[in-house]
Amino acid sequence: MTNSSHDTSYDVVVIGAGFAGVTAARDLGTSGHSVLILEARDRVGGRTHLAEAFGRQVELGGTYVHWTQPNVWHELRRHDIPLAAPLDIDTVYWLADGTVHSGSRLDHSNAVAPLAARFFADARACFPMPYDVTAVDNRAIEKETIASRLDSLNLSVHDRDVLEGALATLVHSPDDQGVAQLLLWAATTFGDWGAFLETAGFWPIEGGTKRLLDAVLGESRAEIRLSTPVSAIDDDGSGVLVTTGAGERIRARSAVVALPLNTLGDVRITPDVARPARAMIDRKHPVRSAKIWARVRGEVEPFCAFAPVGKNPVNTARVEYRHDGDTLVVCFASGPSAVGAGDREGVQDALRTFVPGIEVRETAGHDWVSDQFSQGAWAHHRPGNLSGAVPLLREPHGRVHFAGGDIASVGVGGIEGAMETGAAAARNIAAALADGPY
Ligand SMILES: Cc1cc2nc3c(=O)[nH]c(=O)nc-3n(C[C@H](O)[C@H](O)[C@H](O)COP(=O)(O)OP(=O)(O)OC[C@H]3O[C@@H](n4cnc5c(N)ncnc54)[C@H](O)[C@@H]3O)c2cc1C
Repeated sequence: MTNSSHDTSYDVVVIGAGFAGVTAARDLGTSGHSVLILEARDRVGGRTHLAEAFGRQVELGGTYVHWTQPNVWHELRRHDIPLAAPLDIDTVYWLADGTVHSGSRLDHSNAVAPLAARFFADARACFPMPYDVTAVDNRAIEKETIASRLDSLNLSVHDRDVLEGALATLVHSPDDQGVAQLLLWAATTFGDWGAFLETAGFWPIEGGTKRLLDAVLGESRAEIRLSTPVSAIDDDGSGVLVTTGAGERIRARSAVVALPLNTLGDVRITPDVARPARAMIDRKHPVRSAKIWARVRGEVEPFCAFAPVGKNPVNTARVEYRHDGDTLVVCFASGPSAVGAGDREGVQDALRTFVPGIEVRETAGHDWVSDQFSQGAWAHHRPGNLSGAVPLLREPHGRVHFAGGDIASVGVGGIEGAMETGAAAARNIAAALADGPY
């Protein structure tokens, strides 16, 4: 506790204990600031959650990271935490034009590559420096949805299904998701979508995301209160007043708001954020995807499967682990309305599209959409927001500093973006606090 002259109790209150909030708290705490973390849930980690299922631990939310992600990799190295090598898979099934095709990974990649090259042709031109999304005037691109980009390619039904299937791990609402974010992601891997998928979706952390989060949190020296949702943040120019759902009022010199975009509307912020940012908060991002684990009887041959949204309830599936003589398959669906984690038979039927006779013994997952403290999965921005409203939230808003994977540039929608924005908020606050009577 510090600084009675400013009538403040803490230098910084960090709201939200996902990767963004914990990174900000650690950086501020280790640089000598007094930090209080307020977290709504009874656990830390937010949209990453290493949980018990099938008698072992599985990741119900964010999982995969990569050595090309600078913030994540730096922390993994510092804490001597390795990545877990994925299973070797060489059988791919893909549903196109009503038929399930199968082949090696190379066969599938040969089918997808020319279509992806057309879809992503302008990725680098639009985002020559992915860390600065406003470097190029992308107003035209920012009007496009993923569906309108697909329409513009005039593909045959077969080719469109192949391409939509290949995008389907990350695209579940093509009429609402802006194409700009897909182009930005591809631009981070030099315009190569296949390389982006490899970096974004293959390499779990040995021991789970919680191992990395706990390592960072352990360094923070921050005080933390769980089960403490925040309902209001008032910045009166001389400090911030944070009000919890239980009515407690806490003063600090500044605040980091590290909340999911889709929950920001539940917290009153005074003065209000800029109008485009408020409109984005009110509308929410559209990703309602479901991640479902299926425990499948026996040691089935390792496979990956892809189907376009709307043409199969499970859009992507991949054999991930062997477990007690069975196989764990991770599945993504366009949302709980397509198939939910509690629907064992529905998941089994959907997997039988690809592998007839496969037997799902149990399923597990978390409904991130109806979860009050996420209200959606990873962020994918609607047209216009990626280079419009989102960068506004990366700017300091008086004494309030936003952070989160949802509002990152490089790494948007993921753990890397959460850590990057948490570190940036901490740097901005440390600089402002060092400047004197802030
Ligand atoms: C199913 C799924 C799969 C994913 N897969 C990957 C992946 O493989 N790789 C990857 O990099 N990313 C993945 N992501 C995305 C990744 O998990 C997130 O981008 C990242 O964890 C976001 O971190 P954050 O700190 O910004 O937000 P969060 O982790 O959401 O943390 C925000 C915190 O704020 C808390 N909170 C909410 N409201 C309040 C309130 N009013 N008061 C106080 N606290 C509040 C929440 O409880 C939460 O703990 C996935 C996400 C999901 C849902």
